[in-house]
This record gives sequence, structure tokens and C-alpha cells, in this order.
Amino acid sequence: MTEFLTATELDAADPLAHFRSEFEIPDGIYLVGNSLGAMPKATRDYVTEELDRWAALGVEGHFTGKLAWKDYHGLLTDQFASITGARSEEVVAMNGLTVNLHLMMVSFYRPTAKRHKILIEDHAFPSDHFAAESQIAQRGFNPSESLVLISPRDREETLRPEDILSAIATHGDELALVLLPGVQYYTGQVLPMADIVQAGHDVGAVVGFDLAHAVGNVELSLHDWDVDFAAWCTYKYLNSGPGGVAGAFVHERHIADQELPKFLGWWGTEASSRFEMATTFEAIQTVESWQLSNAPILPMAALRASLDIITAAGGVPAMRQKSELQITYFDRILAETLGARVQNITPSAMNQRGCQYALRVTNGDGKRVYEELAEARVLCDWREPDVIRVAPVPLYNSFADIERFVQILDEIVI
Ligand SMILES: *Cc1c(COP(=O)(O)O)cnc(C)c1O
Repeated sequence: MTEFLTATELDAADPLAHFRSEFEIPDGIYLVGNSLGAMPKATRDYVTEELDRWAALGVEGHFTGKLAWKDYHGLLTDQFASITGARSEEVVAMNGLTVNLHLMMVSFYRPTAKRHKILIEDHAFPSDHFAAESQIAQRGFNPSESLVLISPRDREETLRPEDILSAIATHGDELALVLLPGVQYYTGQVLPMADIVQAGHDVGAVVGFDLAHAVGNVELSLHDWDVDFAAWCTYKYLNSGPGGVAGAFVHERHIADQELPKFLGWWGTEASSRFEMATTFEAIQTVESWQLSNAPILPMAALRASLDIITAAGGVPAMRQKSELQITYFDRILAETLGARVQNITPSAMNQRGCQYALRVTNGDGKRVYEELAEARVLCDWREPDVIRVAPVPLYNSFADIERFVQILDEIVI
């Protein structure tokens, strides 16, 4: 007979357990890092350092020291590359996620009379839907003809991988762009990114991913998968704080392409000549040529604080290893304790899920359950129409958090 380990034993054996003390965790059980990651204690120091440099140096801070602000975005590059499985010339920290999606579509959505469709999911995150729709309209096409929405089958919750691939094949030479999430924000499903790229390229389409729920959650190999572009925010699993600076990836093989349309700004031109204020654009030979404005130093300082912790913890592979143990534990005690009273609509296969659960209360009482969880100081979120999302984040959630959550849920759900 198998003896299962208790939460206490699992926490005692967890090599990442001590990282919890590097975070400020709000009172209660914090299970909402999928929406806003907890604050690293070091964030205060990293941000204060830049405030102090500003106070002491004023404008000279742009050019002084190893943290010179004119190069500051470059301090994030190597860690972004390792988190996304990219080369350093393929990733940059800039703007917000939706802004980056637009900038990427300016370059990579190039509709023609024949090939004009963008394939997204029905019930994509609204911002992604709006971005794709408005890009289509901006180019003079009609979203009702050019925006293709794919949905799960009737009475199913998540997209079947084969249905995604066959939808791509069906739209074939009318498909300009496939824009899908790496991890679906509502269900927590991990999409088969490598297969999607292959299917998209097979029909001559460009493939981009929104990695908002994927970065810092699951392992990624953007370069090797041959993804054309990607964008992500950093305030979810990368703990950069509210409104934190976002990321973008452009595959190496597109970087030197002079034919790509691109919106330009002075931060995309070669740093060596930038301050000569010439009006000839000399594109930086990396994804940094997509940068527009000088970088927001304070949010970037906050992001550095968190990425340094992730690096110290062994990066995404180490976090994912713990996450899989937490998922296995969570699945088991949820089934033992609540049985059929609660259903997790996240796929059960480990390679199709990250750390987020999408729980549905079987008797339809979900909204009340969510409200009582909130009263019991369980921080999670409610997503219309009927899902409670909870995410044990390996960097700062313990097995005991999961155990306590299930106990409270058991008391609340009838
Ligand atoms: C969180 C999230 C966003 C948020 O967009 P912002 O531009 O950062 O406000 C967009 N899309 C997806 C899929 C998300 O999960």
C-alpha cells in the first residue's frame, strides 16, 4: 500500500520552501499569483536604489555606473531569455502586454486580399480579442470575416489539440496569423505550442503567442519551437508588481528583415548614435529595435528583484518540478475531500496544465462559495460565468497552503 506524504512532510522535503520568506504574503492564504504575484521583499531595495540614484545623480543617472538607465532594459535580457527559452537578441522588456501585441501585429499581421484571417480563441482574454479585431479593422478588413474564433466542442471545457490543428489547416491559405495563448487564462490549459507553430507554418501563416499565464509557470522553448513572436506581462508569475513592464520575443530569423513594417521610436535606433539626434533610423540588430520610448526604470527595478529570486531558485525548471508535486498533491486531496462536489475543468494531463486550477462548484453555488472563501481570507478569484481560479505558486506557496485551502473549501461547499 502506498503511503502518501502529508503537507508537513512535503514542505519539509521541499528545496524551495525557504523562498517563501523572501516574499511579503498578504494576510490569509494567497492563491492568486496568477493574477498578481506576491511582492518580493527585495523589491523595496531595488526600487529604492534607483530613487537614490535619481536623487544623487539626476539626469546623469542615464549614463553613470553599471546601472546606467540608458542600458537598464538590457539587465533583464538574459533572465527573460532563460525563462522563455530564447536567445538574448530575441527578447526585450518594454511597454505593457497589449501594447506589445499591437506592435507585434503591426509587423507580423500583413493581410492580403487572399490571406487576411487571424485565428484566436472564442473567449480569448478580452484585450487579445480587441487587439486582433482592431488590427483587422485598421487594415481595412472586416472582423466578421477575418477574425476566426475557435471553441471547445459542445459540452467540453477545453480545446482539443487536434481541433486547434485542424482549424489551422481548414483556414489554410486564408490564414495570415495564429494568435493563441500559451496557457489559457480561464481554464489553465497549456496549449501544444510547438505543434501549433508547425501547423501554422505548414499553411504559410505566422504564429504568435500571448504568454501572460505561461511565463514563470511552465517551461518554454520559443526559439527551438520556431515561434514567430510572443508577448507577455510580468505582474502574474513574474511578480513585478501592478502594471509591471511587459516582454516581447521576435524570432532571430525575423530580426534583420528590413521588409517588416514596424512602428519606430528613438529607443529602437543604435545606442551609439542615438544621442546625436540624427533622423536616420539605424535599427538595433536585436528585438530592441522594436523599442519606442526610453525605459521605465522603476518598474524595471521591481522586475529585476523578482527575476533575481527566480534565478536563485534555479529558474523555471526547478519551480516547475515543485509545481508538479503540488499539482499531484492538490489533485489527490481535492478528490479525497470534496469528491464530486467540485470539478476542476483544467485538463488532468500534466503536460496540459500549469499551476492554476479552474474550479467549478457542481451544484451551481460557485459565486456564494467564492464570497465565503474571500471572507475566510482565501485570496483567489472569480471569473464569470462560473469558475473559481486558484493557483499554488511554487516559489511562495506551501503544501500547507493547499491543505488549508481544501479544508476551508470543504467547510463551505455543500
Ligand atoms: C493578464 C492578461 C492580459 C492583460 O493585458 P495587459 O496589457 O497587461 O493589461 C492580456 N491578455 C491575457 C491573455 C492575459 O492573461
